[in-house]
Amino acid sequence: MKICRFGNNQLGLVEGSLVRDVSAALDVLPAHRYPLPGHDPLIADLDKVRARIEAIKDKAPTLPLDQAHLLSPVANPGKIIAAPVNYVKHLQEVLDDRNLHHDNQINHIQRAGLFLKAPSSLVGEHAGVALRKLDRRNDHEVELAVVIGKQGNNIRREDALNYVAGYCIGLDITIRGPEERSLRKSPDSYTVLGPWLVTADELPDASNLELSLKVNDEQRQKSNTADLILGVPELIEFASSFYTLQPGDVIITGTPEGVGPLVPGDVMHASIERIGSLDVKVRAAA
Ligand code: MN
Repeated sequence: MKICRFGNNQLGLVEGSLVRDVSAALDVLPAHRYPLPGHDPLIADLDKVRARIEAIKDKAPTLPLDQAHLLSPVANPGKIIAAPVNYVKHLQEVLDDRNLHHDNQINHIQRAGLFLKAPSSLVGEHAGVALRKLDRRNDHEVELAVVIGKQGNNIRREDALNYVAGYCIGLDITIRGPEERSLRKSPDSYTVLGPWLVTADELPDASNLELSLKVNDEQRQKSNTADLILGVPELIEFASSFYTLQPGDVIITGTPEGVGPLVPGDVMHASIERIGSLDVKVRAAA
């Protein structure tokens, strides 16, 4: 199932070039009172929501996909976990270019570990990216994004895929410079998820997917998730050895080689095999 969020916080079922507005399925979610849960309520009850979608979809109103203003498929992730250097060729390009490493110590992921991006940095395809610090280099990073489906702690890699709700495309936008990654990668709109969530039953194996990013018409990044140093099961094992994973937590798995600068006016076209593609406009922040 391909589940999107669009427009005014509507829920959509993507079928080819159409979206069915299945927002009524959200009625199965529990009403929350303060304090709100530390997980994403839609992802936590995705099975219930899916059953309701199946029941109502045939009578749901439709609209053309290209008229749906797509939001992030996960609205309220408790944490956005990111893998810093998880493709060998990207490690090499960072080590080779001072504009990328800024004398930061760059280590492969087993040494560098993971970092967190602010959930407030998250937007969907339609919102676009608003660049800050235009006197510095802002780069694109296309990544496979994994959405965690259920709570887990110290998850073994053999069991890890049982904890995946689904996948989407992630863009990890980055201001280059000497500061901590969490600062440089967390401005508003610097995390894009989209175009929708492909549920794990539809994509049981994400370990051999072509991924690509073009800026305007220029091919910048092109690789395959087979080249990940730590694959999805290993990342889940690693992350959950440090903190409990919650439904709706997102792991962006790292970017391949070919990172490059963005400027206002650019359009990023990102795609991942078996997930889809998204077009994201870049502007200067107000
Ligand atoms: Mn990244």
